[in-house]
Amino acid sequence: MRFDIITIFPKILDSYFSESLLKKAQDKGLIKIQIHNLRDFTGDKHHKVDDTPYGGGPGMVLKAEPVYKAVQAIKLKVKSSKLKVRTILLSLRGKKFDQKEAHRLAKYGQLVFICGRYEGVDERVAKYVADEELSIGDYVLSGGELPAAIVIEAVSRLIPGMLGKSESLEERKGTYPVYTKPERIELKVKSGKLKVFKVPPILLSGDHKKIEEWREKNS
Ligand code: SAM
Repeated sequence: MRFDIITIFPKILDSYFSESLLKKAQDKGLIKIQIHNLRDFTGDKHHKVDDTPYGGGPGMVLKAEPVYKAVQAIKLKVKSSKLKVRTILLSLRGKKFDQKEAHRLAKYGQLVFICGRYEGVDERVAKYVADEELSIGDYVLSGGELPAAIVIEAVSRLIPGMLGKSESLEERKGTYPVYTKPERIELKVKSGKLKVFKVPPILLSGDHKKIEEWREKNS
């Protein structure tokens, strides 16, 4: 699966994408992540990507034309591979992203992300360039780069071969509380006193059926 990110801060996600699961997936050739600098798609010598909002008001707005050119260029590049493409504008007004949405997006061959900044992106991008708008939650971040990374990671985890066998099995079962060694730990609580916290005895019982039931109940 291929992910393309259009941003004015092309280095901002470098370290995240070059560690752990996403790095391994790229090394194995399961996914490809390409970052595109929006400034490379401007026509003027100052590489201007933003301008003041019509109607007045604070801040700057990302211009529609460079975004359009970037999306066109990215699509053209991979046209021959006939991947099923979806262009997504990260936006606070978008549909809320969740695990169900991750499953839906995992069916595409290529996702192109448009990351807003400042006061957002010229509305004509949402209307005529992007296929959809996605929000990662009801809180305001400074840009669409972290939301894009979140969507990429959640979608990537669903690609066959991404996770180890046991991990993907657990994923299907849902999420439940987990504990590891040691069996008991001593922590200072609010009052300043030391208190012992133990692992639920059921997890030490060796009774796999009961453990499964406990996990299901607590998931
Ligand atoms: N006043 C602007 C608005 O309401 O759209 C705030 C724009 S925000 C500071 C800049 C950019 O960050 C947005 O255009 C969007 O791309 C991204 N962004 C911020 N929070 C987001 C969220 N929760 N989900 C998706 N994108 C987000």
